[in-house]
Amino acid sequence: MFNKILVANRGEIAVRIIRACREMGIQTVAVYSDIDRQALHVDLADEAVCIGPAKARDSYLNAENIISATVLTGAEAVHPGFGFLAENSRFAEMCKECNISFIGPGPEVIEMMGNKAKARQMMLLAGVPVVPGVEGILEDYEHARRAAETIGYPVILKASAGGGGKGIRIVENEEGLKKAYDTARTEAKAAFNDDSMYLEKYLEEPRHIEFQILADQYGNVIHLGERDCSIQRRNQKVIEEAPSIFLASDLRQKMGDAAIRAAKAVNYKNAGTIEFLVDKKGSFYFMEMNTRIQVEHPVTEMITGVDIVQEQIKIAAGGKLEFKQEDVVIQGHAVECRINAENPALGFRPSPGRANILLWPGGSGIRLDSAIYHGYEIPPTYDSMIAKLITHGKDRNEALNKMRRALDEFIIEGIDTNIEFLFKILNNENFIHGIISTSFIEKEYTLK
Ligand code: ADP
Ligand code: ADP
Ligand code: MG
Repeated sequence: MFNKILVANRGEIAVRIIRACREMGIQTVAVYSDIDRQALHVDLADEAVCIGPAKARDSYLNAENIISATVLTGAEAVHPGFGFLAENSRFAEMCKECNISFIGPGPEVIEMMGNKAKARQMMLLAGVPVVPGVEGILEDYEHARRAAETIGYPVILKASAGGGGKGIRIVENEEGLKKAYDTARTEAKAAFNDDSMYLEKYLEEPRHIEFQILADQYGNVIHLGERDCSIQRRNQKVIEEAPSIFLASDLRQKMGDAAIRAAKAVNYKNAGTIEFLVDKKGSFYFMEMNTRIQVEHPVTEMITGVDIVQEQIKIAAGGKLEFKQEDVVIQGHAVECRINAENPALGFRPSPGRANILLWPGGSGIRLDSAIYHGYEIPPTYDSMIAKLITHGKDRNEALNKMRRALDEFIIEGIDTNIEFLFKILNNENFIHGIISTSFIEKEYTLK
């Protein structure tokens, strides 16, 4: 096992990883930018190294500085969390060259699955259904136009290197295609420094259902069941739950088998997620694979009792999976709400500033993953997610009741949050009855 791990991230996921390490008796090194000196992850880690100015490009995305910090502190492994360098194959390669264990899959797999166009092709070869679309990337606008005509509108344009819902455009007809193609490319270039695009059929009101994979270095691959992440705003998840009430056991079995086939086809190692879209008839299609820990991993942890971050560390250190597929038992139901510093009434505009936390929710079945504390100044520089509230009950109804109760208790002053908006969704009749799709928020709420 490792003696010391450097956590190459910030916010709640850095805190989450440090907590896992402490429980395992592993020393931790935090990295931080100038603006994050007062951040909780810096305080909780055994050591902390400043890696540059506030701008992510100069600090949390600064691979050279992070590698230097790892070498200087004598850490043997780096945990990248999610976002930032988590899906950067060059960074994983640099770690390898410096004899540092990267807690995740190898650079080749990150490269392959990080490219959505390539990943699709791999899945086709593995016999995993994919959304009908072009094979490979789009050469130019004319290629996109012809492809859209063949596939039939509506279509969805996606940045091949995309993530976090960026670089995506839904196109209803040919009139809208040119503008969508141009703006999505510009957005992708700015966000991922890569403007290659591809295009597929836009499925109407599907569910987003994903499978959590764990794979060790000895060819053992299992899944920890699914998460339903259909409640989204602008292709970004807002509420997630596990299990999905939409899946009958035969469909769950089929999708789980396909997810394992997908992971095996790319010789996957460590924790990963296979994302699918599922239509009303129960047909499912591979969408993408995330080669990292996922924001919503806690809902799976609550219903399986498996600590996914600890498993990631054990796998990277050469450990063998200690359980088999049949040992995975699903208990009850879990729900997660992403709490953001933002103002829903003002188009979800970010609301950084000093957070005065008057009451944290607590009690039975409540888990709160967060990196803020009373008096903490939320910087304007990074993601607006400030906490993840997770509840666990014996069934969905109980988990939802606990969530309503916990959201109601939560009192933060000084900044705007989406807590009331989440509370509204939790009380929406369609949501309560599980009548949900990725268009749910758009359909139910007219938001400015
Ligand atoms: P999840 O799939 O785990 O729900 P998200 O899509 O919400 O993850 O992304 C988690 C975080 O990582 C967000 O802050 C998002 O902006 C960031 N992120 C995801 N993919 C990328 C990427 N390819 N490049 C940069 N940041 C990314
Ligand atoms: P990201 O890397 O940003 O997470 P994804 O490819 O996972 O991008 O897509 C994000 C979201 O966009 C999905 O969860 C889904 O809501 C929507 N989406 C993606 N592809 C399609 C599609 N073909 N049809 C309908 N919705 C889609
Ligand atoms: Mg995705």
